[in-house]
Order: sequence, then structure tokens, then C-alpha cells
Amino acid sequence: MNASEDGVLPPPSNLKILVHRFASAGAAPMFNVIKNSHPIQYATIKGFFDATTLGIGIYVSNTPPDITIGYAWSADKFATDQIKEVAYHEFAHASHYRKTDFQLWVDNINFVAHHGGYGNGTEAGFEKGSLIEMWGYFMGREYAHRRYGPNMHSNLNPPFPTGAAGFANSWYAWNENSNNISLFDWTHIASAFLHDIRYNNIYNQSNSLAENNVLIADSDSISGYSISTICNFFDGSTTSPTTLMDKLRNVLPSGITGNTTANYDILRNVY
Ligand SMILES: [Zn+2]
Repeated sequence: MNASEDGVLPPPSNLKILVHRFASAGAAPMFNVIKNSHPIQYATIKGFFDATTLGIGIYVSNTPPDITIGYAWSADKFATDQIKEVAYHEFAHASHYRKTDFQLWVDNINFVAHHGGYGNGTEAGFEKGSLIEMWGYFMGREYAHRRYGPNMHSNLNPPFPTGAAGFANSWYAWNENSNNISLFDWTHIASAFLHDIRYNNIYNQSNSLAENNVLIADSDSISGYSISTICNFFDGSTTSPTTLMDKLRNVLPSGITGNTTANYDILRNVY
């Protein structure tokens, strides 16, 4: 199943993608696409690249790309599935950009430029980036797992289990339990919530993969949400994880054991 079968819009056409050897995995500010409709100040563009790539800003900010993918940040990220996961993540952002409002994007660019990244979830205005990255991280891992499955992937970084590729250290496992490190990416990004509302636990339990231990027993009994249902809500009226979770609560898939509003709230309240 591919992204269009999931109901995900393709990214805008003629994307300018820069692969560079500076730090950082990737970013999708969409500057070149944006400039056709909205001027953005040079200082904002340079500030964004300085914050996300440690030095590329001065070279690219006059003709900024839409997406950057950096490969010098960590030598153990050269494996094909690692690069693909970054690409899937950034393309998910580019697709989101087509659905949402320009202002949400620019607000997040300013946030990242001023905080040097996603922040820790306490700074004013973090919610837009938290929403944007919730989708990006979920989609990157979801599609990497579809492409590479339970045992064709590379080693993920410690403290994720290393050694021979297997279900316990797969991209699916990262979305499922993050090796019990955290429920969140970067302390506040609830990408795993989107995974939890899609999947029941049969697949992971049949492969001896436990639920994240922060999700206490039976607190994830929701399943059956499609990617198309989720991404349909990424228009400009959805500006935070809270709004997205509120909207998803109203479209609980029917006919599935465990899918009750009460159970949805139990899961949601863990995040
Ligand atoms: Zn991202």
C-alpha cells in the first residue's frame, strides 16, 4: 500500500531538495514553494537553517530549498532504511504543507529558528511543531516498516536493541514502544499515539513485543483508524495535538471491540 492509497496528498511538484553534509537529519521548511505566494525574510530563512543544520544558512538562504537531508550528523545513519525513513518523514511534512495554512508553517519555522529545534514542550507556541512532527515521525517509521519489514532493516541507535535485525528493533517497534524509553519524541511529540489508534496489539504480541510500559496494561485498546482518516484532519483548522485528538475522538471506528469513547480517553490521557 502506498501513500496515495492511504489518502495522503503527494508533496507539491518541483520540490527543491538539498542533500548536504552538515549536521541534522532533515527538515522541510518548504521555502522555495512558499516564496511563490508569501515573502519570507532572509533573516528568518538563515535563522532556520543555522538552527537546524549548524552552518549551512549562509550558503543556501538566498535560494533556499524546500527540503534538506543531512548525512554528516551521524555516520551510523548511512543505511538505506535510515535515509528512507528521513525521506518519508520529510515528504509527510511536504504533504501536510499542501493541506494546512501557510501561517501554521511559518509560525513553526519561527519557533524552530528561535528555539534551535522542537523545544521541550513548555515554550509558548510549541504546539504547532508538536503537531507537525507527530505526523512526520509517525509516517517516517510507519512507511519504513512497510518497506523493510520486521527483519530487513538496519540497526537503530542504542539504547534501542542492537544486534541482528528483528522485530524487537524494527521501525514498527520504535513506534510501538520506543524500547520503553519514552512515550514521546523530544519529550512532547506524541507520534506513537497515531500508531496506537491504528493498531491493535495482536501483531506485536504475536512477535513477543511488549507495549510501552508507560502505557499500563490495557490502556491501549483503541484500533482501526486509517491514515486517510488521520490526515484528513490536517487542514489549517488543526493547529495542535489537542485539536487533532479532539477531532479523532469524534470518528471512532465502529464495530471494533474496545473502541469506546471511554477507552479513547484512557489512552489519550496517558499522552
Ligand atoms: Zn520533522
